[in-house]
Amino acid sequence: AAMSEPPHFVLVPLAAHGHLIPMVDLARLLASRGARVSLLTTSLNARRLRDGGVTDKAARAKLLLEVVELPYSPADYGLPPDCQNADMIANNAQMLPFFLALRDLAGPFEAYVRALVPLPSCIISDWCNSWTAGVAACLGIPRLFFQGPSCFFSLCDLNAAAHGLHEDREPHVVPGMSMCVKVGNRRAHGFFTSPGCNELRQDAVAAMRTSHGAVINTFLDLEEKSVACYEAALGKPVWALGPLCLHNRDGDDMASRGGDKGGVSERAIVAWLDKQAPDSVVYVSFGSVARKLPKQQFEIGHGLEHCGRPFLWVVKESELASPESRMWLENLEARTSGRGLVVRGWAPQLAVLSHRSVGGFVTHCGWNSVLESIAHGVPVLTWPHFADQFLNEQLAVDVLGVGLRIGVTMPIMILNDDAAAPVLRGDIARAVSELMQGGEEAEERRRKAKEYGAKARRAMEKGGDSYERLTQLIESFRHAGGKEHCSGVT
Ligand code: UDP
Repeated sequence: AAMSEPPHFVLVPLAAHGHLIPMVDLARLLASRGARVSLLTTSLNARRLRDGGVTDKAARAKLLLEVVELPYSPADYGLPPDCQNADMIANNAQMLPFFLALRDLAGPFEAYVRALVPLPSCIISDWCNSWTAGVAACLGIPRLFFQGPSCFFSLCDLNAAAHGLHEDREPHVVPGMSMCVKVGNRRAHGFFTSPGCNELRQDAVAAMRTSHGAVINTFLDLEEKSVACYEAALGKPVWALGPLCLHNRDGDDMASRGGDKGGVSERAIVAWLDKQAPDSVVYVSFGSVARKLPKQQFEIGHGLEHCGRPFLWVVKESELASPESRMWLENLEARTSGRGLVVRGWAPQLAVLSHRSVGGFVTHCGWNSVLESIAHGVPVLTWPHFADQFLNEQLAVDVLGVGLRIGVTMPIMILNDDAAAPVLRGDIARAVSELMQGGEEAEERRRKAKEYGAKARRAMEKGGDSYERLTQLIESFRHAGGKEHCSGVT
């Protein structure tokens, strides 16, 4: 790009909330620092972002941020036309066709990039979107891969891949880290371990090797050692730029974070939280993808009822869909009225976690949830399900000291796993009480969470580690950009 032109970053998130949300925050952050940003996604996600005001807000602030729709054809793979985001996948068998349909975005992506004059300075794409790597290489555009999970997980995963450790459940030590990790747990039943997805996973790992470096949503005061080891193991720069959620200070409404609106408005949720005592409410939510069976939901509901504390519980529409379950939930709401609030669908998680009344978070340990909780000084009760979540739990509990385990040890399938033994109401009530009560250990977890929260805010301010790293990132790609032309890859 010419001297006067801002560097142009093309961002290609994976079509899943947990991957899309931090990339949207990154897009806004880059644009707020003077870069030009194009965010490419499927039409459903593009619409959600526009409806949520992402583009309007950027335009009002005179930011160079555009959301670009890539034509996407799930019907070619036997999927319904609205299956454009991971939360639309109805069952585990749809996982592979979903990813194959996404891979076909390579053609429209290449056409879009080739038409840009000048070619973009840098492509930042989710590590899962390996199909962007060929286009980047062909046009001589540097590609960074975005790693959604913790750096600790990313390091363990890379190490395991390098040593061919796949299904091994034996604890082993990652070089540079003084602790044991259970390799088999690290990604069990994540997206790419669904039936038939292994080849896609291998493509993604290969694409990491040919890229210029990694962008990761963490900060040095939280994961300095992992970042250093990961950088050494990759042999490429690692850009720790988080917590990206802290750029989203004014708390966007639900749609702009990618979700469809739930039954209770953000205003009503905040008004309810306003009435509760500081640090008294336990927030219960398991991210955007995992779906629990009614038998598990009943245990959670009774556990929350019996723990006797204020709770805010997010239940997905698809989870308690039968008339009997709905009736059961309504009765529970009546019995706990005033003390409990059930949100159906999508909760404004940042508004919740940043509220002074929220004192604990029962989480599935998706990295965004863990990091958002830490960034707002809220300790966690960890209930991992699959993928990186067990290692995020290990990081939160054993390394950072901000979490307490509910005690699950086996990964479950992403969607409705009948084989999974439910965690029982008594255990849930006990663990919630232990997290929320004023004992010494609970106080220590809370103190550490608040300390990391303060460090997280400093990292994102001018002069902070993540802020300055972003400055370096923008500067190092200012004069980059495609030069070589080849005849096409897709
Ligand atoms: N999220 C939200 N409201 C909800 C559920 C999820 O805002 O009701 C957001 C949450 O704040 C986080 C993301 O969706 O940013 C979920 O990402 P995470 O890595 O925690 O889990 P995943 O959904 O990928 O399993």
